[in-house]
Amino acid sequence: MATRVRPLARSACTALLRQQKTLPSSSRRLQCMTKTNTIRAFRSSPHHGKQDLRGYNDSDRYHGQYPRRTHLCGDLRANNEGQHVVLNGWIQSPRAMSQDLIFIPLRDASGTTQLVFRSGSPELRTEIQRLTPECVICAEGVVMKRPDGMINNKQTTGAIEVELKKIYCLNPASGSLPFWPSQTAATLPNEEVRLRYRYLDLRRPELQKNIRLRSLVVNTVRQHLIDNGFTEIETPTLFKSTPEGAREFIVPTRKPGAFYALPQSPQQHKQMLMAAGFDRYFQIARCFRDEDLRADRQPEFTQIDLEMSFITAKELQEVVQGFVSSIWKKALGVELDASHFPHMTYQEAMTTYGSDKPDIRFDMKINEISDYLSDVIEQESALDCLVVKQGSKLTGGDLKSMQKALELGEEKDFAFVKINENNIHAWPSKCGRLKHSNRLGQIESDINNKLDIQVGDLVLVHKRERYLNGGNTLMGRVRLHLANLLQEKGLLKIDPNTYKFLWIESFPLFSPDEQNIRTWQATHHPFTAPFDEDIPLLTTDPAKVRGQHYDLVLNGMEIGGGSIRIHSPVMQRFIFDSVLQLEKHEYQRFDHLLDALSSGCPPHGGIALGFDRLMSILCNASSIRDVIAFPKAAGGKDLVVNSPSEVSPDQLKEYYLQVVNKE
Ligand code: ASP
Repeated sequence: MATRVRPLARSACTALLRQQKTLPSSSRRLQCMTKTNTIRAFRSSPHHGKQDLRGYNDSDRYHGQYPRRTHLCGDLRANNEGQHVVLNGWIQSPRAMSQDLIFIPLRDASGTTQLVFRSGSPELRTEIQRLTPECVICAEGVVMKRPDGMINNKQTTGAIEVELKKIYCLNPASGSLPFWPSQTAATLPNEEVRLRYRYLDLRRPELQKNIRLRSLVVNTVRQHLIDNGFTEIETPTLFKSTPEGAREFIVPTRKPGAFYALPQSPQQHKQMLMAAGFDRYFQIARCFRDEDLRADRQPEFTQIDLEMSFITAKELQEVVQGFVSSIWKKALGVELDASHFPHMTYQEAMTTYGSDKPDIRFDMKINEISDYLSDVIEQESALDCLVVKQGSKLTGGDLKSMQKALELGEEKDFAFVKINENNIHAWPSKCGRLKHSNRLGQIESDINNKLDIQVGDLVLVHKRERYLNGGNTLMGRVRLHLANLLQEKGLLKIDPNTYKFLWIESFPLFSPDEQNIRTWQATHHPFTAPFDEDIPLLTTDPAKVRGQHYDLVLNGMEIGGGSIRIHSPVMQRFIFDSVLQLEKHEYQRFDHLLDALSSGCPPHGGIALGFDRLMSILCNASSIRDVIAFPKAAGGKDLVVNSPSEVSPDQLKEYYLQVVNKE
């Protein structure tokens, strides 16, 4: 597309001409055209750097057309030998071996090539000596094979170097950058500094790779879903405050007392889209939750969000398995099929792994042994037992640090014992309150047989409440802690390329209200449908109602969750009102949804996958910040632009806001 150049006004042109009478006519001609051309001519003039441009001095950079690049830095190989090439990129620290031998690595998005200055012109040497790391240059040169001993097999371009003929410094970099992207991981500054200068950090090949993979994965998902009849639809970002679950960000308006809220998810809109007849919807959706930042949570994050009409949980799960398999194939070259996605109920997950997102890459199952000791275990309690094979190799210090990390000091119903020849037939009597059982003698050998307890094992027991709720049990936390410890000590091996997916289902629909204001809160969100056969329990025993919710778990992390929804406005209103005991004014905030359900809304269900978490697993990144271009730091701060920030008193006034209790 042609760029339109705005000519200077005639008077400005004449003034310039008058001012530059001393320049050669070719330069004068150039300068008369445009402001941009004025700068170009300035650099290309023989008097470059000497004219009076009224305080404007930008002589460190080359202004003007520079040669078009012929190759990317990562492209060149031995078979390019002898070619005259033009490369563009960022220079890394030059290494001057002598006056006549200087190596300069040049990096662009595709990789790095070694430029070399060898006994070239003194002008070229001077230009090179002026370059600081991270200058952006255009380099012209000739591809040479590296001498035999100099080949770098670790680099794709390691067989060649480019002998420099000319360079153009397109934009120098400050000599006082806080760090260079080419530094080794060990010498980089802390993450706070790197987040502050994110544009520099993003130049590091590792982050470049993550962000590019993220784009590839989004594309794969989009393509897969569109190929399967889904429609991508954007829902509003300026939404309304509704008590859906998480704390929202609110957005003031110029109407007194009127606020938008940013969506914590497109949940209500996607359900309304089902009422609207878009029976397969998806969106790569940005969501916002104003929650205290737990490790690795972001206040704004991305979900792969879908909803489908006339669907069963199983059919929806198959769609998810389909696009997850496409991602794994494209990003990792790994083939997955239905057998990679087993199912487990919440009850089984919690009793066997002590977690609603079990890591099944390793065994270490928890066994309930209450039946053996029914005389010391009350009806409402259950006794969990974990046997760690060869766990006696863990030191007293290891077990103390576990107790400290998991705050087990005060836990009187928790005990552990290392099994040796002397105690193998009497270990329960060493386990806290178990020792009071009358049945000890008779049951010891039964337990040992059932759990295959042997000398050298570590046995841990915990008496917990029989009624399970929440995300984990104490023994589940112990299991994970010990697995980490065993891994560190080389006693447990987990292949980093193992991907263990698991669907967790049949969650309790309601959990005790954490804030103790009401009796129940929705375990996930209030739109999840109960199992049909549990509907009568809604009035008699809400604790026993199972929801048609499903979570997708990978390697012990929840990567997605969804459900079959309530499509009956009568049931939805009943749950808001009678079970969750929302005040009328609270559930009236969902009137739009209740109206949509009353308008002839099909049965429907959906899911959302946490895209940032998914990417961090695919990239093997230790933090989701490593897969987000501009993540927030601790406390929700954006360190690049320094937000959140104050606004002027005038702006506050315009939005009818007053700041009180400022710290
Ligand atoms: N909106 C839900 C969430 O953000 C996901 C779903 O139920 O589809 O967790």
